Amino acid sequence: MASAISIDSVIRASRFPLKSDAEKRLRDAFLFAEKAHEGQLRRSGEPYITHSLHVAKILAEIGMDTTTLIAGLLHDVPEDTPIPLTEIETRFGEDVAYLVDGITKLGKIKLRGSREEYFLENLRKMFLAMAKDIRVVIIKLADRLHNMRTLEHVPKEKRERIARETMEIYGPIANRLGIGEIKGELEDLCFQYLDPEHYAETKKIEETYLHQGKAYMDETVTLFRRLLEKEKIKVMDISGRTKFLYRLWKKLERHDMDITRIYDLVAIRIIVPEVADCYEALGIIHREYRPMVGRIKDYISLPKPNGYQSLHTTVFGPQGRILEIQIRTEKMHTEAEFGIAAHWIYTERDQRGWKSFFSRKKDIVPKEPHGLEWVRQLQEWQKEIGRDDEEFLKGLKIDFFKNHIFAFTPKGDIIELPEDATPIDFAYAIHSQIGDAASGAKADGKIIPLDQHIVNGQVIEILTEKNKKKPSRDWLDFTKTANAKAHIRRALRNDGLFAGNGK
Ligand code: MN
Repeated sequence: MASAISIDSVIRASRFPLKSDAEKRLRDAFLFAEKAHEGQLRRSGEPYITHSLHVAKILAEIGMDTTTLIAGLLHDVPEDTPIPLTEIETRFGEDVAYLVDGITKLGKIKLRGSREEYFLENLRKMFLAMAKDIRVVIIKLADRLHNMRTLEHVPKEKRERIARETMEIYGPIANRLGIGEIKGELEDLCFQYLDPEHYAETKKIEETYLHQGKAYMDETVTLFRRLLEKEKIKVMDISGRTKFLYRLWKKLERHDMDITRIYDLVAIRIIVPEVADCYEALGIIHREYRPMVGRIKDYISLPKPNGYQSLHTTVFGPQGRILEIQIRTEKMHTEAEFGIAAHWIYTERDQRGWKSFFSRKKDIVPKEPHGLEWVRQLQEWQKEIGRDDEEFLKGLKIDFFKNHIFAFTPKGDIIELPEDATPIDFAYAIHSQIGDAASGAKADGKIIPLDQHIVNGQVIEILTEKNKKKPSRDWLDFTKTANAKAHIRRALRNDGLFAGNGK
C-alpha cells in the first residue's frame, strides 16, 4: 500500500517555492538517478529510485536547499551503480559531488567494538565526519529514516541490529541537530522493532485515551482560540498534538503506567506572531484557568540546551481536566521541528518568499541559542553574513575540529590524526608492523610521497614490502604523531643492536 512517489511530490513538498532553474536541476538529477539505478529493486520489490525520491522528499519537508535535495536523489549512485563521482561533479557541480562523496564515505564507517565503546566511538566519528558539512549528516538521517520506514522488508534477523544502531547513533544526532520531527519518528520506528510488546501496549493506552478525548480536545481548541482573539491576540495556529509513542512510554514507565498522571499526553500548541504575544497569551490563559504549581516553564528566556524555545504551562482546563499548553512564535515553532534545517528555510524565505504555514510576518532575531558551540557558531555566521546564501553555506564547511583531520582506510575505518599528519603517521596509527613495513602510499587511489600531508577525508592505502621490517631514519623529520616517532625510534634502536653483528 505504499503511496506513489514522484519527482513532483518532492517538488510539492519543498518548504519554499523553487526557482525555475532549481526545479530544472532537480528534475535533471531525478532522470539521471533513475537511469543510473535502472533495473535495481529495493527489498520491497519497488524500483530503487523510489528510495532516492523518498530521501529527497524528507529533505524537502524539513526545508533543505536544492543542492541538498539533488545530493539526496543521487546519494546511492556512486555506491550502487558504475557511474563515478566525477560524472556527478561534471553534471551537477562540485557542491553536489562533495555531499554525495561525504555520504558514500559515511556509509563505509564500520560499527564494531564493545557496546559502550561502540556507542561513544561511533557518535564521535559521525560528528567528525559531519564537521565539514552538516548537510552530509542531514542527508544520512533522511536516508536512515526511509530505511527504517521500510525495515519490515529486511530479513528479520537483521532488523534488531539496524534498529539498535539507529536508536543509539542516529537518534542522538537528530536530537543534537534539533530535528525533533526526525528524532521522534526514528525513535518510534526503533521502539516498534526493539520492544514490540511495550510498543503495542503504549499504542493501545494512547488510542484508548485519545479516542475518549478527541471531542473534548476539539472543543478546547475552539474555546482557547476565541478566548485569545477576544483579547486581540492573533492566533496563527492552534492545535492539539499527541506525544511520540517512545517518549510516552518512557514517561509511563516513570509513572507506574498510569496515564492519568501524564499531563502532556496531548499538548495544545499555540502559535502567535511576536514574543510579546507569547507572554500575553500565557497571562490570559492563566487568568482563566488555574496553572499547576511548578509546571510553568519559560524556555524563551531560558532555551533548552538544543536551542528549543517556547512557553510551557499546565493548567486545570475546561471541566477541570489537566492540559499542557505550549506557546511560541512561528520561527520558534519551525526551529523546534526542524532544528538546524530551519536555517535554510529562513535563508531561502528572506530571498524569495517562503510558503509560510501561518503568515509572512517577519520574526525577531532569536536569542543566542544554548548548547553545542557549533550551533551557536552557525547562527553567528548567519547573522554576520546576513542574506548571502552562498557565503552561509561555505561557512558550514569550516572544520569544527580545527586541529584534527580524519582519514579513511580502504575498508572505511576512520583514523583520526593531527593536522599535517603524513601517511607514515597513518600507517603507525593502524599498526606498528604496518608502519615499519611501509614503502609507499596512495591517497584516493593515487600514489603520494610518504611525507605529503594527508587531507581531511582522504582514503589512504599503505603499501607495504613483505621483507621490509624497519623504518627509515628520515621519517623522523616529517612524522607528526608521538606514536609514530616512538615506534620509529624503537625500531631503529633495535636495528642498531644488530648492526654491530655485521648484518
Ligand atoms: Mn540510501
